[in-house]
Amino acid sequence: MDCSQAKAHLQSYEHADGVAVHELIGSSQNGGLTYNDFLILPGHIHFPAAQVELETHVTKKIALKTPFLSSPMDTVTETKMAITMALLGGMGVIHHNCTAQEQAEMVRQVKMFENGFIPEPVVLSPTHKVADVKKIKAKFGFCGIPITDTGKLHGKLVGIVTARDIQFLDDDETTLKDIMTTDLVVAQNGVTLEEANQILRSSKKGKLPIVDSNGCLVSLLARSDLLKNQSFPLASKVGDSKQLLCAAAIGTRPEDKHRLQLLVDAGLDVVVLDSSQGDSVYQIEMIKYIKSTYNDARPQVIAGNVVTRDQAASLIEAGADGLRVGMGSGSICITQEVMAVGRPQGTAVYQVAEFARKFGVPVIADGGISNVGHIAKALALGASGVMMGSLLAGTSESPGEYFYHEGKRLKKYRGMGSIDAMEKNSAAGDSGSKARYYSESDTIKVAQGVTGAVVDKGSIRKFIPYLQLGLQHSLQDMGVLSVQGLHKQSYNGGLRFEKRSPAAQLEGGVHSLFQYEKRLFA
Ligand code: IMP
Repeated sequence: MDCSQAKAHLQSYEHADGVAVHELIGSSQNGGLTYNDFLILPGHIHFPAAQVELETHVTKKIALKTPFLSSPMDTVTETKMAITMALLGGMGVIHHNCTAQEQAEMVRQVKMFENGFIPEPVVLSPTHKVADVKKIKAKFGFCGIPITDTGKLHGKLVGIVTARDIQFLDDDETTLKDIMTTDLVVAQNGVTLEEANQILRSSKKGKLPIVDSNGCLVSLLARSDLLKNQSFPLASKVGDSKQLLCAAAIGTRPEDKHRLQLLVDAGLDVVVLDSSQGDSVYQIEMIKYIKSTYNDARPQVIAGNVVTRDQAASLIEAGADGLRVGMGSGSICITQEVMAVGRPQGTAVYQVAEFARKFGVPVIADGGISNVGHIAKALALGASGVMMGSLLAGTSESPGEYFYHEGKRLKKYRGMGSIDAMEKNSAAGDSGSKARYYSESDTIKVAQGVTGAVVDKGSIRKFIPYLQLGLQHSLQDMGVLSVQGLHKQSYNGGLRFEKRSPAAQLEGGVHSLFQYEKRLFA
């Protein structure tokens, strides 16, 4: 046959390679599928990976430059994670396993964040000892520490301890009030980064405490950070303002209305209604309440979790601006095991997304994402964003301290339905994870999650760009230029899928080696 006619010859085949997404997932003979059950066939590359556009809507009115969200879990998203996720083009969802005031304060800090300022500096009190400073130095590598009367942020600033103050001190029991520097150079809250930078330069100090009108500490600026200050062109921001986008989770109980008011007062952009089974009268009532009480644009409401079209229809009808999809797919989750309810995540994402798109409601694939390929597959199945827990736990931005176990540096990661999380915070009352996973009348807590640990992944400042670049390469391999293009190609049957057997899955992973090291990026 004439080689120059190969493409034309292809047209005469009745079927293209692989199957369309609705044949893969919609077909009853395939049952429920998840990410590892299939692959996407390659397309034609006619552009560099850097051209692939990852911008996507996560609610009707909010678009992000990258499709990444961090889970509302107390070992994943607090202030630092939410700020860094937003700086990198994604969005963090602050957990609610804490008091309403604590959660609102975290939202406020994200909204008030200005690149360069440290919103949660380590603070000590005048009665702390030199030994405490040395411990902090050993752990974090710095010892320029502001001293407040309470030993906490927002206490009255009374001094600062620097490396020079403790350099020649042998007595670790000396209290800080005897050695701290009290001749302070400070800046008032509201100072711009540029002005603060100027003050630091002329004062020749290493740290500049930022105080409010009562002299209470609100943040800190470090000379060392100024030098390595990055710019964040993808940052998720509110319009043209400098404010970062912030999301937070709440439950669906009456007291959550008060919680929400505090969050909205703090500047919340997106509220995530955190239920493991979202199709309930409580959630429908809550969506309607939010939509009738607040502006339609803010806060946007992400409802869920859902895994079926029926569930999705209830929440869309009530007014949801986005849907969170997943039940039992999370890495720490035992919902499917205990409740016998849930759905394989690939099928859940496709079925809900395919339905919700008719109403312009974006879908977020939540749980079960453990590599870049899973993100690409979730998007190919119609998701507009992915929510990650385990993948972002164990980073320097996730809450908690690192610890060592058998030579590995680890951080705790736990399900919000684990007994551990449900018992965490009695101050949170019946809110938080208790509300998500068990009802107040229960005398026994039935766990839907486990407690574990994950290895140190370094900072998400490197990890999220890795996911982003990996995703761009994946879409390039599929021959699509954007997330929107991916959805279009998937729904019109242009993107081809293939189910893979257990043997094919083994073949697709690393195999036949005596040993190997798996480094994901450098
Ligand atoms: P991962 O990314 O696979 O670790 O999954 C994270 C997701 O699991 C979260 O965003 C929640 O939707 C879900 N999740 C969190 N805690 C629990 C739990 O205790 N049981 C079941 N699902 C959970």
